[in-house]
Amino acid sequence: MHDYQTFLHHKLIIIGAGASGLMAAVTARDLGIDTAILEGNDRIGKKIAMTGDGRCNITNDYTMTGTDDEVVALSRKYHSSQAEFPLPVLQQFGIRQTIDFFNMLGLPLTTLKEGLMYPMSLQAASVLDIFELALEERNVPVYLNNKVLDVTVSSDHPRFKITCRTETDEQVVYTSEYLFICTGGLTGQNAGTDGSGYVLAQNMGHAMVEPVPAIVQLKVQYPYMKALSGIKIQGRAHILVNGEVVRSETGEIHFADYGFSGPPILQLSRIAAVHLSRGDSVTLSIDLMPKRTKEEVIEFLEMSWGTFAHRPVAESFVGFLHKKLVPVLLKEARIDQEPNLLCQDLSWKTKGIFYKILKRWDFKVIDTHSFEKAQATAGGIVTKDILPDTLESKLVPGLYFAGEVMDVDGEFGGYNLQWAWSSGYAAAMALGKHIFK
Ligand SMILES: Cc1cc2nc3c(=O)[nH]c(=O)nc-3n(C[C@H](O)[C@H](O)[C@H](O)COP(=O)(O)OP(=O)(O)OC[C@H]3O[C@@H](n4cnc5c(N)ncnc54)[C@H](O)[C@@H]3O)c2cc1C
Repeated sequence: MHDYQTFLHHKLIIIGAGASGLMAAVTARDLGIDTAILEGNDRIGKKIAMTGDGRCNITNDYTMTGTDDEVVALSRKYHSSQAEFPLPVLQQFGIRQTIDFFNMLGLPLTTLKEGLMYPMSLQAASVLDIFELALEERNVPVYLNNKVLDVTVSSDHPRFKITCRTETDEQVVYTSEYLFICTGGLTGQNAGTDGSGYVLAQNMGHAMVEPVPAIVQLKVQYPYMKALSGIKIQGRAHILVNGEVVRSETGEIHFADYGFSGPPILQLSRIAAVHLSRGDSVTLSIDLMPKRTKEEVIEFLEMSWGTFAHRPVAESFVGFLHKKLVPVLLKEARIDQEPNLLCQDLSWKTKGIFYKILKRWDFKVIDTHSFEKAQATAGGIVTKDILPDTLESKLVPGLYFAGEVMDVDGEFGGYNLQWAWSSGYAAAMALGKHIFK
């Protein structure tokens, strides 16, 4: 990697050596564009190294059905204030192209459960190594430790003047004809994504949709969460906004002292975060027995309580429920002070409480964990000021956006990196077409 401290000019400068910036740099260079990257960190792709629990869930081939509408199905995995915004980008560069791209760089992928794709090595570090090689092979300068503080736009040439702060606190100025903002969202701030890209864009006239954490754990108000902490169940989670079910997800739900985590919760968390920020009432409802109907649960328990009528109630759940759930269930049913209460003496009212909790246990959601723990940012630069095919700013010609910095976020399972690859590629291709038209 290069580490210049001089005043330099490039045709294209990309701010951010994250997923979208790296993809844009390789693509632009392959088109013959003089390209350089400015990165605030001392190495490229610090965030990529954190992804997928250190394995980097690069994309997801679940929607790759081979049918005409597979890109439409992929686009449904994304959220934006302008719902249709991601489609043209995904049409240009979807999952197939991502697999081909990484093969072309020399990084084969493999699919684990539920379509989640990873580098075959199952190491996020391989993705960084492959990008380092690709940049070196293409002679793309990467100016590390160059935190962009300010951008000024001129109607003359060079169009962009970019002021950076280096690790020795010097200010260095770069100039370019074209500028890509690939600075990410607000998650993993120790990876360099501190929201400074939003400020750069705002200074050039772009507006923001207030960012909130997405793909994040939910905090609930419930007195016995500590007692439940550590439990993992295969359950179904429903998210309710002002009493209405908005979405449901099935899978491994993790109980924690603050609330809930696990894939279904992470998937639902965006809805919770957005509605909490609007002051709505948000409830998480857990079905502990998603494979049985309420009637089947009742039938099973009635039979068990009938057969083992002489056993204490607490014992009647052995082998049926996680052991740590039972004392809390007894508290909810207000029989925790009656350890000798037998199944044959259970009242209908108490039984009703058990039935309700097992199929629909409601928790008031009070917050999400912060951006520090989140995997994605919902919100960002308003997309209506960005051209959906090219990702060029409608306000500042020559300025492009790619990745999480825009008001687009994907679902859990590789879709956020997919957006970074797709948008980085689309922006670079659009610039190539513009320059060489
Ligand atoms: C813990 C964690 C795990 C994740 N796991 C997955 C996963 O497995 N699969 C998935 O699809 N998504 C995952 N994500 C989300 C995914 O990492 C991001 O959506 C993706 O990296 C966004 O790419 P980007 O290029 O927009 O931004 P980033 O990859 O965040 O890169 C932005 C870069 O810009 C640099 N930068 C920012 N501001 C400046 C500035 N002013 N000057 C210079 N440089 C600047 C930053 O240092 C950073 O290197 C995860 C996120 C986290 C936090």
